[in-house]
Amino acid sequence: MKTNFFCPKCHGYLSVADKVIFAIKKEGLDSGLLLLSPKLGEYTYEYHPTIELTEGEQIDFYCPMCGHDLTVEGANKLVRVKMQVDDKETFWVVFSKKIGERCTYKISDDGQEETFGEHGSLNVDYLSINLLK
Ligand SMILES: [Zn+2]
Repeated sequence: MKTNFFCPKCHGYLSVADKVIFAIKKEGLDSGLLLLSPKLGEYTYEYHPTIELTEGEQIDFYCPMCGHDLTVEGANKLVRVKMQVDDKETFWVVFSKKIGERCTYKISDDGQEETFGEHGSLNVDYLSINLLK
């Protein structure tokens, strides 16, 4: 299965090599880059050694190309990006901004949900928000 992640605003690809690249900001950090695994449910973070990320802290995710804030409207602790599988079907992929909170949701255009990660049950309330608009 080939997956590609892209920005919902500029449609630029966030997938490079075997990582998904985000621009991040947080308290004490104006800008940085964070690399995540494209495998849903796999939580590995790669970033420059000068950046300090601690378990439980919340960071903001932006598109590194257009600067679009990837926060889910109405759910400040969640991020969403688009994922395309095998060059055809597209999904929303929603995950938590909190370091160490392992929950990811894959949502198809017809609203079908798949949950990944040990904390998957945490944010289900937010998923009633219309993510598809
Ligand atoms: Zn963008």
